[in-house]
Amino acid sequence: MHFETIAIRTQTERSQHHEHATPIFATSSFVFDDAEHMRALFANEQDGNIYSRFTNPSVREFEQKMAILEGGEDAIATSTGMAAIFATFASLLQQGDHILMSRAVFGSTFKINSDYLAKWGITYDYIDPLDMHSWEQSVKKETKLLYLETPSNPGLDIIDLEKTSAFCKQYGILLVVDNCFATPYLQQPLRFGADIVIHSATKYIDGQGRVMGGAIVASHTIIEQIYPFMKNAGPSLSPFNAWVLSKSLETLAVRMDRHCSNAIQIAQWLESRPEVNFVKYPFLSSNQGYNIAIKQMKAGGGMISFELKGGLSAGQTLIDNRKMISLSANLGDCRTIITHPASSTHSKLTPEERLAAGISDGLIRLSVGLEHVDDIIADLQLS
Ligand SMILES: *Cc1c(COP(=O)(O)O)cnc(C)c1O
Repeated sequence: MHFETIAIRTQTERSQHHEHATPIFATSSFVFDDAEHMRALFANEQDGNIYSRFTNPSVREFEQKMAILEGGEDAIATSTGMAAIFATFASLLQQGDHILMSRAVFGSTFKINSDYLAKWGITYDYIDPLDMHSWEQSVKKETKLLYLETPSNPGLDIIDLEKTSAFCKQYGILLVVDNCFATPYLQQPLRFGADIVIHSATKYIDGQGRVMGGAIVASHTIIEQIYPFMKNAGPSLSPFNAWVLSKSLETLAVRMDRHCSNAIQIAQWLESRPEVNFVKYPFLSSNQGYNIAIKQMKAGGGMISFELKGGLSAGQTLIDNRKMISLSANLGDCRTIITHPASSTHSKLTPEERLAAGISDGLIRLSVGLEHVDDIIADLQLS
């Protein structure tokens, strides 16, 4: 079956009430038939729900959908995207390990390295996402995983997943891809050889700015290594949020199609304007990563970043002149959102770290929504 059909038709079994849509299993715990049933569940001799920090049917439905849609064997849902990243590192790494991380990653992901992994004796090196030939010199015998985003937030750098996975296999390193910007509808990193896919479901998977959530998709073997951390440390997804996210997946394909068609039109319009210094959008043929993007993505996604010739002050004027577009730190909403990464999402980085991540002071990030494209363009007063 096709992506659209799977996203709609994967659901938990119906109860005796014959409900059409899956209900929300808003329960913190589950009951046992008798002492033997309880013993068997705790001893893992029998499948079943015990407590919602471990498993919950609403959460399991979302996990199963994510696993199938990403082409993975299994998935774990988490309370946020950051919880998915942290759970992966906390479960798979130990003191003395080393990781390679693309310089172009989400602001809080940097903080996990510097503020937590470092104090637990896990070392890291940042690599230039656009210069694969330089990566080799950072590989150590302790290197356990390579972590990247493609397209990256907010610079929209594109990394070749097939080549990166070949590089990782050569050195026996796990490849972890944050697929938040693309969603499984536009790009499935496991099919190009990645080992683990991470999502902030808060973004396009919810798609309407309502709930937070995250997901980790990988093989059974890797998921089995991460699951005990989830169970015992508890960054679990709430049943309500899981239910919202499962419902959202039903419309992911149609929403992404519109995000993409609006975004390419806006990217081309921006590129044609004399006030604009540069536009970054994966499917603009002028972009660095265009040839890779068309190979590994179905379409360019809904995110654009650009810089005006007037730099920071022109960007601030653009932000302050808007009438409809939301000024917010979120992305992937049906409402168009504009933001200034250097003073918001990536403000905790040093100026050098920001520049290395491709975030100039004048860079504007636009999360193109589902409004009519003409109304979005009309609200972008460039001068
Ligand atoms: C937002 C985001 C995250 C973090 O997700 P939360 O749900 O906010 O915790 C991670 N990676 C990328 C690329 C993001 O955009």
